Amino acid sequence: MFGYRWEFAESDERPEKTTACEELENGYTKEMLFLWVFVFLFGTVVGSFLNAVIYRTEKGGSAFQGRSYCPHCKHQLSWRDLIPLLSFILLRGQCRYCHLKISWQYPLVELSTGVVFLFIFFSYGGFALFFSIDHIFRLAYVWGVTSLLIIIFVYDLKHFLIPDTIVYGATGLALLYHLLEFENLENFVSFWIAALFASGFFLAIFLGSRGRWMGLGDVKLAFFMGLFLGWPNVLVALFVAFVIGAGGGLVLIATRRKNLTSEVPFGPFLIAGTLVALLWGKDLVDWYLNLILV
Ligand SMILES: [Zn+2]
Repeated sequence: MFGYRWEFAESDERPEKTTACEELENGYTKEMLFLWVFVFLFGTVVGSFLNAVIYRTEKGGSAFQGRSYCPHCKHQLSWRDLIPLLSFILLRGQCRYCHLKISWQYPLVELSTGVVFLFIFFSYGGFALFFSIDHIFRLAYVWGVTSLLIIIFVYDLKHFLIPDTIVYGATGLALLYHLLEFENLENFVSFWIAALFASGFFLAIFLGSRGRWMGLGDVKLAFFMGLFLGWPNVLVALFVAFVIGAGGGLVLIATRRKNLTSEVPFGPFLIAGTLVALLWGKDLVDWYLNLILV
């Protein structure tokens, strides 16, 4: 969509993956380290905002209104209480005013968002990314969508419910991105096929089990996953989701925290699968094809 492209930005493909070690070998040590720390800290700040959005989605308020306050004593929080990760550590996990425990959700979401943002940053070319406006645009899109997925992950884990507004927001972002980055009809159609396949598959499970195994929220989330990941990457995501879902279920049953009839939300597994497919999907497909073709 933008006229200016750097040499490796010929196609919609991301630039070559880089790892921390490769970037260091390339010799920009100091600047890189600074940039990684910056990306991670930026992720934790976004994570802190996501916590606020989750809290306000639970309470039914607007995500952008009002100052943050302690959920127990309602004391308004100052900037000292709102530094991602650091405030939690310095306050030893307690509210400064009423000394009640702060939920582990807060530092965990901040840390995970920081780590996921850093992984995505490496996956999309690391430092080299900044030589192309197209890649910056794509990075912003993927970071934005991932932020919404983190909200769904936490919300579904806590309430066994996928909030409609968030999954519609993610689907809207994906649609907008495909319209802006429209390359050719074939490419566009492949994303729609992936979306219809994934959501159709979950709709069949939903109807077949009369909503006992999967909810309609999972059907909507699967539609988004297809639009976001395309074909065949969405298959990687679904496969990973079912494998870790089955593994996780067995662990929960073995440790007697759940039994066979317990309800376990599937959204978090779908989102974990989506992140794996996003970061390593192409590698996994190549590996699998090599395995069956050789
Ligand atoms: Zn308090």
